[in-house]
Amino acid sequence: MGLIKRLFGRSPARIPDPLWNKALADMPFLARLQDEELRRLRDLSSRFLATHAIGGAGGFTVTDDIALSIAAQASLPVLNLTLDLYRDMAGIIVYPSAFIVRHSEIDDAGVVHEWDAPMAGEALDAGGAVVLSWEDALEDHAWDDGGNLVIHEFVHKIDMGNGGANGCPPFIAEFHRGIALARWTSVFSAAYDDFCRRVDQLESQLPPDFDEDNDSHLERYAALAAALPMDPYGAENPAEFFAVASEAFFTRPEGLAKAYGQVLELLEKYYLQQAIRPA
Ligand SMILES: [Zn+2]
Repeated sequence: MGLIKRLFGRSPARIPDPLWNKALADMPFLARLQDEELRRLRDLSSRFLATHAIGGAGGFTVTDDIALSIAAQASLPVLNLTLDLYRDMAGIIVYPSAFIVRHSEIDDAGVVHEWDAPMAGEALDAGGAVVLSWEDALEDHAWDDGGNLVIHEFVHKIDMGNGGANGCPPFIAEFHRGIALARWTSVFSAAYDDFCRRVDQLESQLPPDFDEDNDSHLERYAALAAALPMDPYGAENPAEFFAVASEAFFTRPEGLAKAYGQVLELLEKYYLQQAIRPA
């Protein structure tokens, strides 16, 4: 707890070597960064910790390790941009595991449906917090399968910088002169449509009585999903596509590079970072 207390609300303190080295060992996807980039990521993480409160909920204690892990993953997408992209954020709330959120929807007949669903992460709009399940965040590190919950939620925050999350983040004159909005829209729309087709095709190969509590059904789903360029959750809507493509960009971009090379190029131009391309 010491580091968080020391850092929060004060000028950034240097992150101690053992803590930083452990963070690097825990997050193998950071290994692609050059020494100079890692130095800047360390500084940025320290500034992030000095300016954002990270609190536990549901009885969870946020240790220094956890706070630094979140700060480093949040800082990665903005490494060559600016932390100002997270200016509009109340803080970060961390639950030990999936948390229950009440959802509601009005159907075509005007009837309101309400249901509770467990969530692994959530980025709240309009200056709200980022909420994470640490169990789910940690699983992503261990699997190294191209998924990354923490990056995902912070990318939603970036996306929200010009209104709600819609898959088109704010373009900042200082960094993004080389990106034309029309090109972003057409490349992402085409890739999203194609990805939805691939996911529809995957779903057509599932047992008709598909049950997510059935292990053999889940294995079948995982085997089919492994052939996709990225997590099928990206077919949910364009905002999720952008967040899931960004997860893959920062952790395991091979599938993205093969299927959607133009998306990868635009993400490189947006984040001003080079993805590792397949040999
Ligand atoms: Zn999402």
